[in-house]
Amino acid sequence: MSQITEQIYQSDIGDVLENSLNGIRPGPAECLRLLESDDVYLMGLVSGHLTKKQFGKKASFVNNIILNYTNVCITDCKFCAFYRSPGAEDSYTLTLDQIESRVKSAWELFKIRQVLIQGGHNPNLKIEYYEDAFKMIREKFPLVGVHGLSTSEIDMIARVEKSSTKEILSRLKDAGLQSIPGAGAEILVDSVKDIISPKKISSDDWIRIMDEAHSLGIPASATMMYGHVENNQNIVDHFFKIVKLQEKTKGFMAFIPWNFEPDNTLMQKEGIVENGSGGVQLLKMIAISRLVFDGLIPHIQSSWLTNGVGMAQLALQYGADDFGGTLIGEEVVSCTGARSTELTGKVIIDAIHQIGYQVEERDNFYNPVSLL
Ligand code: SF4
Repeated sequence: MSQITEQIYQSDIGDVLENSLNGIRPGPAECLRLLESDDVYLMGLVSGHLTKKQFGKKASFVNNIILNYTNVCITDCKFCAFYRSPGAEDSYTLTLDQIESRVKSAWELFKIRQVLIQGGHNPNLKIEYYEDAFKMIREKFPLVGVHGLSTSEIDMIARVEKSSTKEILSRLKDAGLQSIPGAGAEILVDSVKDIISPKKISSDDWIRIMDEAHSLGIPASATMMYGHVENNQNIVDHFFKIVKLQEKTKGFMAFIPWNFEPDNTLMQKEGIVENGSGGVQLLKMIAISRLVFDGLIPHIQSSWLTNGVGMAQLALQYGADDFGGTLIGEEVVSCTGARSTELTGKVIIDAIHQIGYQVEERDNFYNPVSLL
């Protein structure tokens, strides 16, 4: 028996890790034990092994921009440093021409393959605003995928239009929406949401809108924002709500755990959370995500946006297979002063090569564009 295998067997989570090596995913009780364990290194050994078995020494990324099309928002989440109330002096909403010019420059400069479109809950924007933007992007830049609008933005449009979220999703798909990001989930437990984002949609609504999107053939990513007021049981509940939906729809392409950045947020001002949760917790979350979703959700994304490139390199050893996007133009996390908010493809490619991995540039649907 090797030293490492011996360490795994001697660990109090050894049985869970052994099951993972044999293709048996942890259930809720085992997931709670992983969250309560300090054996992050052993979790990483197993999750890294499962990832390499599937992807080899290769990591993907997408050349993309974020269009934070408006900072006007009426939802006042306590963890958000980005939003402005309607009418605020420094509020903004991009025009269709501004959107076109940003996508055009990004296409010409970086040959982007995805526009990630996210913004505030702006009650002044009708559905035509989104339809016009999506149609323009798809017609003028056919190789650029439209990955946009969190479930809570879709809910906002439905309320503005006095329509159902399914109808809104269907119209947006016809206009060119190809996939939706997982934002707005935070932690899918209402007692947590009641503290950090009381005006946002409930957990059940997030699941319902994702279910509707998947049933219309719109795939999505799922996310988890941890490191604030949640406890381990809340995280377990979050994971397994997503497991349940994925077993039904197979609509999630990727899972992205990312840590809450408290700087400049109301939660920090009110003393609810003082500091971020740090790198070890990130690696633990990446490792557990791979173990929980192994064989169920294909991709686990490293979270360079809030943790920087060095941590993202480590995350690739702990279960992530995708570096995410270049995220040119990101404005939401930048408002918290988080360390790294804009990368170009070259920095990501160099970072992946530094750890001896091949780089796969991918498109919006995780199809390979080139191998570098
Ligand atoms: S996180 Fe989104 S919904 Fe919440 S306040 Fe910020 S912009 Fe608005």
